[in-house]
Amino acid sequence: MKLIFDKSVPGRCGVMPAKSDVPTSVNLKPELLRNQDAQFPELSELDVVRHFTDLSNKNFGVDTNFYPLGSCTMKYNPKVSELIASDTGFANLHPLLPQLRGGGMLTQGALQVIYETDMQLREITGMAGFTMQPMAGAHGELTGIMIIAAYHRANGNKKTTILVPDTAHGTNPASAAIAGYSVKTVPSNKDGVMDFDALQEMMDDEVAGLMLTCPNTLGLFNPEIKRICDLIHSVDGLVYYDGANLNAVMGKVRPGDIGFDIVHLNLHKTFATPHGGGGPGAGPVGVDEKLLGFLPVSLVVKRDDGTFALEYNREKSIGYIAPFYGNFAIVLRAYAYILMLGKEGCLRVSENAVLNANYIKERLKGHYDLPYRQVCKHECVFSAGNLLTKYGISALDIAKGLIDAGFHPPTMYFPMTVREALMVEPTETESKETLDKFCDAMIDLTEIAKNNPEQLKAAPISTPVGRLDEATAARKPNISYNCPLCG
Ligand SMILES: *Cc1c(COP(=O)(O)O)cnc(C)c1O
Repeated sequence: MKLIFDKSVPGRCGVMPAKSDVPTSVNLKPELLRNQDAQFPELSELDVVRHFTDLSNKNFGVDTNFYPLGSCTMKYNPKVSELIASDTGFANLHPLLPQLRGGGMLTQGALQVIYETDMQLREITGMAGFTMQPMAGAHGELTGIMIIAAYHRANGNKKTTILVPDTAHGTNPASAAIAGYSVKTVPSNKDGVMDFDALQEMMDDEVAGLMLTCPNTLGLFNPEIKRICDLIHSVDGLVYYDGANLNAVMGKVRPGDIGFDIVHLNLHKTFATPHGGGGPGAGPVGVDEKLLGFLPVSLVVKRDDGTFALEYNREKSIGYIAPFYGNFAIVLRAYAYILMLGKEGCLRVSENAVLNANYIKERLKGHYDLPYRQVCKHECVFSAGNLLTKYGISALDIAKGLIDAGFHPPTMYFPMTVREALMVEPTETESKETLDKFCDAMIDLTEIAKNNPEQLKAAPISTPVGRLDEATAARKPNISYNCPLCG
């Protein structure tokens, strides 16, 4: 693939700027002046347009193809949410607008959006209050764990341990460790969910809390969830619900009703805001009544006269985790999405997410190993272990083959409890036709694995770069470019 500099032809021209009608130099210091012309590529307008159009076509995203990346909910982002977020009344707001703390009228609309999103999320989760500030799911987790620590400190509890099952999202143990806790892993049982007896054996007064990814990364909802909450509470521990993928249960169960103390949601997964490339995101954290005082500042409050304000005075608050409004434009998109869906729509989201995942599970289970066969929630996990044993074809080879078939690969090699794992999450917004095309491609790949494994080992052949040596690419990246113009 050529860079635009490689395509430069001396003397070729794309635009003809008008002759300057102002003096060409003011009194700049000599050291500020160029001693040679700026080195721009020289191309015609068509060369430039075609170059960038070609690049844009190399992009892969939910706007171009199916993207079944498990535990990530790469779903569509309604264009109407984008439209609302780009409204200049919101988009041009500056966090330092005057009298912010006094509730300047210029920011009332934004504050109202945050306040009402808080109310919507309370209704959806059954929690008593939210902070909208965390800027990612993992940031929400860290906030939640800091609240757990603050709660125990306030109660004079010296607790050192956070329990995390082996099917948790990888950020869970990382967040607990960063917050200073020692992390103990709770094993799963034969059904793929956290083993209650093992949990019981690990319980002691050191347990500050349990972080539960719900459903877990196998897409399974733990049927003993109520007992689990009660058990943790019996040692004055707190239970944390990782609700990044709330689209699995939204409108069906509420973490607050089950007994969870803390919840985080990923607006950039469940609530239709763009996702990928590292952000931006929003991971609001909800807490129950007894933890409200620990929420980070600032919080949006509604005053008696109906106006809104940012409140900073919370005695027990864990303090700042992000400035001002958090990722406001992300919250705004989610707000629009929730209003658009309404109660019925929220329910349909999770019903379709579960239906789609189970459809894929049923269509592919004769072709790939399916270690846990019960009804799943928003995602299902296959194993390519049978293909590896029989034909030497791994989950990685299947993923690369999918790229040539026009699909983004599923999440791979996670959770670690499944050998050669392929974690597929179709999301709720995909049609049966799309799911069928994906399943057909997955089945075709098993045929190729059997009849022509070399073809799969060579995949992908349809992309600008083929199969990389990923370890070398990560450890010794070659990211320098020798510009032909600059030498
Ligand atoms: C994505 C995800 C996270 C982390 O969210 P980020 O925004 O990527 O930090 C945490 N838990 C679960 C279950 C997730 O799917």
